Amino acid sequence: MHYQKSIKAYEKARNVIPGGVDSPVRAFKSVGGTPLFIKKGEGAYLIDVDGNRYVDYVQSWGPLIFGHANKTIEKAVIKAVKKGLSFGAPTKAETNLASLICSLFPEMDKVRFVSSGTEAVMSAIRLARGFSGKDDIIKFEGCYHGHSDSLLVQAGSGAVTFGSPSSPGVPADLTKHTLLAKYNDIKSVKKCFENSKNIACIIIEPIAGNMGFVPADPKFLEELRALCDKHGTLLIFDEVMSGFRASLKGAQGIYPTVPDLVTFGKVIGGGMPVGAFAGRAEVMDKLSPDGPVYQAGTLSGNPVAMAAGLASLEQIVDESDLYVRLEKKAKKLVEGLKEAAKEAGIPLQVGAIGSMFGFFFNDKPVKNFDDALKSDTTRFAAFHQGMLREGFYFACSQFETGFICDAMSDEMIEETIEAAQKVFKEIA
Ligand SMILES: *Cc1c(COP(=O)(O)O)cnc(C)c1O
Repeated sequence: MHYQKSIKAYEKARNVIPGGVDSPVRAFKSVGGTPLFIKKGEGAYLIDVDGNRYVDYVQSWGPLIFGHANKTIEKAVIKAVKKGLSFGAPTKAETNLASLICSLFPEMDKVRFVSSGTEAVMSAIRLARGFSGKDDIIKFEGCYHGHSDSLLVQAGSGAVTFGSPSSPGVPADLTKHTLLAKYNDIKSVKKCFENSKNIACIIIEPIAGNMGFVPADPKFLEELRALCDKHGTLLIFDEVMSGFRASLKGAQGIYPTVPDLVTFGKVIGGGMPVGAFAGRAEVMDKLSPDGPVYQAGTLSGNPVAMAAGLASLEQIVDESDLYVRLEKKAKKLVEGLKEAAKEAGIPLQVGAIGSMFGFFFNDKPVKNFDDALKSDTTRFAAFHQGMLREGFYFACSQFETGFICDAMSDEMIEETIEAAQKVFKEIA
């Protein structure tokens, strides 16, 4: 494979954009080589500027559940574009998308749209603090909730890959209200409640995707719910990644636990910049303009973004067996990878729920961030490079989740497994 054009584009970009990328996870820092510059996407495929084709297991880091350039979404977007790009005034599209979301989640009465997952989580936390009148929050090591100040503490993937779990530029005064607990470890959460009587919310990725793929134990989520109820603390599920990915109802379609607030992003924008947070009316009505908790956005609920989101979600709702189909493929892939690794004598931990999947080069099951960090990142880097050469595009870090899109065929999965058999032998 030739990467000359990508290499040139990257050199040019580095002159005018820090690190040549607009989001650090896109740099190939932990796997070596230069990031591929993309010309276009077609269904399951990504095509780079050198003309190489890859089966894409990143899918824009989650949003593209139907794959690249989905015709239905494309049509909806073009139709919306022709009417104007933004009005700064309400449109019916926002109500339509909000109604669809509320109809799927009976516990959620109201939704507010923003333009990114970061904004959704940041706003949900402000709301939880405003509603409860408390300041502290609990987050889990390895969970990522966007790059806002108080959440950039032990924040998984990008931050781990770059070895700076928290970032310069974030005052300690702002993170002193962020209490850290261990994923799947209820004792560590109880300790936080012993140390503070002022906890506004627990924020969690119920199916963690940003320390690699690590689902929560069902009992753990139930225990969080009980602790929250006992202490007058809100439970926030960050489903920016797992929402409409793990199942139609995200983690809430899989676990019985009901959160107080949910954040969305990625799939609900169908590839356009959209985030949202939702909750019951009693909480959501504390938001400005009805309530005192301020939150705003010039491009929030943008009509083109809403059209893309609506077209994406309507297709999802229409296809009753979509997630069954996607999960079958995800399981076929990870089971195939596991078997191929075993043949090569490489220990590999795998998992999949709905269209999300993950694998760790690790000889023990991964239940939390400490476990994840024991994975062999050097071997992952070699795997990544080898698979790229074979035409398979995986996320460029051990601490990311992979995504199946509906445009992927069984044949593509089989080809991926065959390529992995070859690559595992090389890196064993
Ligand atoms: C991606 C992600 C975010 C941040 O969303 P952006 O749109 O990148 O700001 C927040 N939480 C989780 C769980 C995510 O996966």
